[in-house]
Amino acid sequence: MSRQYDEYILEHKMNVYKAYQWLNKNLPDLFDDETTAACEYHCQFGHDESKYKPEEYDAYDKYFYGNNKSYEVVQNFNKAWLHHIHNNPHHWQYWVLINDDPNEGEIILDMPDVYIIEMICDWWSFSWKKGDLREIFKWYDERKEYIKLSEETHKKVNDILYKIHKKLNESDVNEEN
Ligand SMILES: [Zn+2]
Repeated sequence: MSRQYDEYILEHKMNVYKAYQWLNKNLPDLFDDETTAACEYHCQFGHDESKYKPEEYDAYDKYFYGNNKSYEVVQNFNKAWLHHIHNNPHHWQYWVLINDDPNEGEIILDMPDVYIIEMICDWWSFSWKKGDLREIFKWYDERKEYIKLSEETHKKVNDILYKIHKKLNESDVNEEN
């Protein structure tokens, strides 16, 4: 157990929640009562809870805060990360179905709204930590060709990012006046 890693998780969860609160306040059209209730839970208490489980905790801690990245440490981390994306629907990889049958191939499922919002808050949390709320656009731009989203999910993600961008620009103008 390392204090540094515990503090990191708590800080990350706090930034995810801040991002959610901003969205809920500034883009209320994205939320009906049900989505709000689900996001309140998933972007606060629920977010990344599996990082405290034995399948993930030590492996992450040793990889990020240990003093050597041996082969074993890296292997264990990869296994823990795989456990994380298999158990957390706020990761797009969770929704990529890779079939056994080559004729069926890979199918990308639609993500439910609550997890789209949690995913964006997760991405955006690093901008909040840095104090540069626009960093997410560059981050996403660099990965958008690689990240696999269904057509519908892709549209929703783009729409939310566009609305965030627009709102941030509007508030800049308001501050200047
Ligand atoms: Zn996560």
